[in-house]
This record gives sequence, C-alpha cells and structure tokens, in this order.
Amino acid sequence: MTAPVGSTSRAPASPAPEPPSEKLGAFTGPDLPDIDGLRTCVHCGICLPQCPTYQVLGEEMDSPRGRLYLMRAAAEGRLAITDTFTRHLDLCLGCRACETACPSGVPFGRLLEATRGQIERRGRPLRQRALASMLFGLLPHPSRIGPMLRLLELYQRSGLGALVRASGILRALPRVAAMERLLPPVPRGARLPALIPALGARRGRVGLLSGCVQRFVYPRVNAQTASLLSLAGYDVVVPPDQGCCGALHLHGGRLREFRALARALAGRFPDDLDYVVTNAAGCGSAMKEYGHWLPEDGRVRALAGKTRDVTELLVDAELPLGPIEAVATYHDACHLVHGQKIRREPRALLGRIPGLRLVDLPESELCCGSAGVYNLLEPDMADRLLERKVSNIAATGATLLVAGNPGCLLQIAKGCKARGLGIETVHPVELLARAVRS
Ligand code: SF4
Ligand code: SF4
Repeated sequence: MTAPVGSTSRAPASPAPEPPSEKLGAFTGPDLPDIDGLRTCVHCGICLPQCPTYQVLGEEMDSPRGRLYLMRAAAEGRLAITDTFTRHLDLCLGCRACETACPSGVPFGRLLEATRGQIERRGRPLRQRALASMLFGLLPHPSRIGPMLRLLELYQRSGLGALVRASGILRALPRVAAMERLLPPVPRGARLPALIPALGARRGRVGLLSGCVQRFVYPRVNAQTASLLSLAGYDVVVPPDQGCCGALHLHGGRLREFRALARALAGRFPDDLDYVVTNAAGCGSAMKEYGHWLPEDGRVRALAGKTRDVTELLVDAELPLGPIEAVATYHDACHLVHGQKIRREPRALLGRIPGLRLVDLPESELCCGSAGVYNLLEPDMADRLLERKVSNIAATGATLLVAGNPGCLLQIAKGCKARGLGIETVHPVELLARAVRS
C-alpha cells in the first residue's frame, strides 16, 4: 500500500494551540463569525417556512432570520452572549434548510458553527458540560464505542432494559430516556478487510470512511457499500486505524477538537486514492467543509476535495440489479440535501431497481429531529419533528423508508416503532445490495 497521506502525523488527535486573539463585538477570536456573511441577510423571510424550529414554535428568534439578527447584534457589540442568546442558537438543528432557501446566499451553517464556537468558549453550566463531556467522550472514539455496545447488548438481552422501562424511572430523566429509546438492537459485524479489490473492469481506487457510529450500529451498510463499490470497479481501501471525521464537533462548535480529528483522519488515507467515500451524510458534509476550516493544511484540503457520498459514485456505475417488489419512500437527510446538495443521485439509483415503486414523501427535506446529537440534547423538539416526519411517512403507504444517514435511520426507526408502523428503515445501499443479482 502507498504511504498514507500524513503518515508522519500519527500522534493522537490533540487540540492545537489557538492563534492570537481578535475581537468582534461580543465575540473574540479565533474563528470569529464572518461579519460580511452576517450582513448578507436582507431579512426577506423566504427561509422561514423551511425552518423546522420556526414551523414548530412560530417564534422569530427561533427562525434563521431571528438567529442571524442575534448573531449580527453580538458581532456589532449591541448584544452580549447571554443565556437567552445561547438558548435560541442551541435550539437550531444546524439542518441548513435555510441555506438552501436563501436567495442571498447567507452561509448559515458556517456562521452557526463559528458562533457555537464562541458559546463553547464562554462556558456552559455544569449539567450541560457533564452531558457534553459524556457524549463527546464516547461518540467520536471507536475504541470506546465497541465496549460500550457490548454492555448495551447485555442490557438488552438480560431483560434489564424492559425492567428499567417498566419502573418509570426514565420519566424523571428525559435525556437518558431519549438515549434509551434511540438504542437499536446491537448488531454483530465483522471488521472489513483493509483492501477489497475491484471486480470486473477497474474504474479506480477509493478509500472508505467507516464512521465511528456507522461501523458499530450499521456494519452491514459499510460492508454493502464496499461490495457495491467493488462491483462498480473500484479497489476499496479501508484503513483499519481510521478515527472520527469530527462532524459532531464541528456542528457543536468544538472547533479545536474538530481540526485535530480532521488532521488525524487525513493522515490515515493513502495519497493515491481517487476518492474517499462516505455513506453517512453528516460525515460527508463535514469532510467537504474541511478546506474552509483548515485552509493552510494541504492534506486536509486534498481529502475534502476527494470526498464523495457513495451515491455520487454509484450513480454512474453499471450494477446488475434484479427486482424488489415493494413501495419505498425517500427522506432527504439534511446534511446530504442541504449540506451537500445531493438530491438526484439516491433517487436515480433507487429508480433503477426493477419493481421498486418510489413514492414522494411530503416534506422530505424537513429535518426528522436527529441532527447529530440534537435528539439527545433537545429531546422535546426532536420528538415533535419526528412525530411530523412519521405522520408524513405513514401517509405514503410505503413499507420501506430510505435515508442516507445513520442518525436519521435510528431516529425514524424509533418513531415508526413507537407508532406501531411496520415500516423498515434502510440505507440506499442496503436496497441496492439486496437487488444485486448474484
Ligand atoms: S439550520 Fe435549520 S433549524 Fe437552524 S435556522 Fe436554519 S433552517 Fe432553522
Ligand atoms: S437568511 Fe436569506 S432567506 Fe432568510 S431572511 Fe436572510 S436573506 Fe432572507
């Protein structure tokens, strides 16, 4: 194998020292929100109907325009970073539906992430810090998730889970209850080999991001992604020691840790790859943004330029697909549709499966409430959005719900189960893999 990009940078991900401080109103550097971006908003309100939190709450300050007003007021020194300011920004899903809708090109996602960085620097109350420490101490670390899932398996199989639920204790702990409800049955997945060779005519060589949640919760999706890419003519390289892409840190404003993780990840992939493929919308969206946050790092920029969602590559491939007789509907994961502007490719791929009838999902681009760890931090809003999503899915009459992000699949599966709907939630590659004629 060719030497990994950044093979000299094998030190564990650790925060780099921050550059000298600057000031912008209530904000201090580094990573100041871009004042020109904030001033691009012309307050037209076109984004409001597309904003999930505005749809639920009807509050101007929980709309994109309201949040931009708050960010700009803080940047211009007219407002301090108060608890109220923080609350309106915490309630934002970071779904970027407002970015898609905005005719003025306001870069809402980057402004939000930079502002969240400011909020994190200001510090949070002890209870919030403890929860964040738990989530960020676990989720981005594959070496910790594995043992935790084995414990979870014990919890599920021993009947302890049923006892805890029946005891009513979770009613007093809403965030723990949100985590408990989200837990899927723990699958057993074999580790992928470091190289899966291309079958048939060779098209190129790609790396596969395992993802720190995906590799444990949906290992079959990774295995099927590798098989389909191999079938499409790609050698698939799966670096065994790859870590987290940092997406959750970026969306949570933990920018120093995000940068350290991005650098470490770039060091794990060989430099002769044509593409690096993800099957998780949140990871792909963050990786494609690497260049904005680390413009001085050539390896990280190169990784960003090579990142593709799996559907972007498979859409051009010849796959021998047999029939699946079923009705399916497709949910647009926010970080695929708004973060990466990918709408056509997954639908085109599903449309090629003979017998599969794809019906439109009303409000398919409206967030399901998952949004990284949002459903764990803000379970009430997440549940309200999930209720709406599940009602829309039920109205289609589909028996298959397809989405290209593990967080959405977990969230929607939870909602369908709670409603007693016999709907299977699947990643697009799962359906394609089922359809492939052996
Ligand atoms: S990112 Fe989503 S939730 Fe946040 S303001 Fe934009 S549309 Fe609303
Ligand atoms: S963010 Fe864009 S769409 Fe929304 S109010 Fe501002 S200019 Fe209008």
